[in-house]
Amino acid sequence: MAVREHMGGGAARLAAWLCALSLVVCAPLARAADEQPAGPLRVVASFSILGDMVRQIGGGDVKVDTLVGPDGDAHEYEPTPADARALTAAQVLVVNGLNFETWMNRLVKTANFKGTTVVASEGVQPRDFDDDDVGGRVSADANHASGHATHVDPHAWQNLANGVLYARNIGAALAKADPSHADAYRLRTDAYVAKIQALDQRVKQAFAALPPERRRVVTSHDAFGYFGQAYGVTFISTMGISTDAEPSAADVARIIDQVKVEKVPAVFLENVSNPRLGQRIAHDTGAKLGGTLYSDALAKPGLPAATYLGMFEWNLSAFMAALKP
Ligand code: ZN
Repeated sequence: MAVREHMGGGAARLAAWLCALSLVVCAPLARAADEQPAGPLRVVASFSILGDMVRQIGGGDVKVDTLVGPDGDAHEYEPTPADARALTAAQVLVVNGLNFETWMNRLVKTANFKGTTVVASEGVQPRDFDDDDVGGRVSADANHASGHATHVDPHAWQNLANGVLYARNIGAALAKADPSHADAYRLRTDAYVAKIQALDQRVKQAFAALPPERRRVVTSHDAFGYFGQAYGVTFISTMGISTDAEPSAADVARIIDQVKVEKVPAVFLENVSNPRLGQRIAHDTGAKLGGTLYSDALAKPGLPAATYLGMFEWNLSAFMAALKP
């Protein structure tokens, strides 16, 4: 570190010396020297889960602004003037991708953002909503898809193996944008990835220990497809991919029938969705109401689910409390 800073200072002195020699080379060299940011790297994260990841990896070397905060719904978001100002001032923007942030392109244009955009999900094996509509998963409104032409499931962070990819993508981007702290970003990425992988193993073991007929739950929106694939759980969702779809009476009746016939053990609510429908299904079927899951947003600071890993721990505890025979 000390060596790197010393070399940076040497480069700046060299630039100043060259400036003194020639006005022609002065301007570009002076600009290059200015690009070494005096303060922390300014990063904007589109929603709370990415904001936490950037904080874990960036530590004190970054200042993070998160656009869609705790308990917020990133599917349906109206950016504010403050969001545009934060983005204008930022050097790095971290987004989920997979058509999650449908409102982002317009915000990037409004803010005239000229920095680096990092797609955290790059390298993920995308899951298509139409692909595996088998094994009891019923989407009341699978075609809703936030009005998109595609049916790609954006909720890739719900598989911790994908969380590892997210962390590595973010770590690499921060190191590239702020090379003088590259070693620190690399060390924190490795430590964070080790924690994600350890938790991934624990979640796998916990679900593998459940009898197969207990590995079935009802949730409100279709956010746990990657989770189900990774950990062997069948999710029945009462709404579509997004959070604003209202299922029809016929859809609700069909889900209630399915929960009864298949003896689905538990119904869960989500922090980003309306709780009424889940409560009604639990009431009408006798399935256990399993509490609140964190799907698309973290909890408020200070609560156990206020971080990505904390969210997974919380959800795991809630699943186990409701599904263990
Ligand atoms: Zn969602």
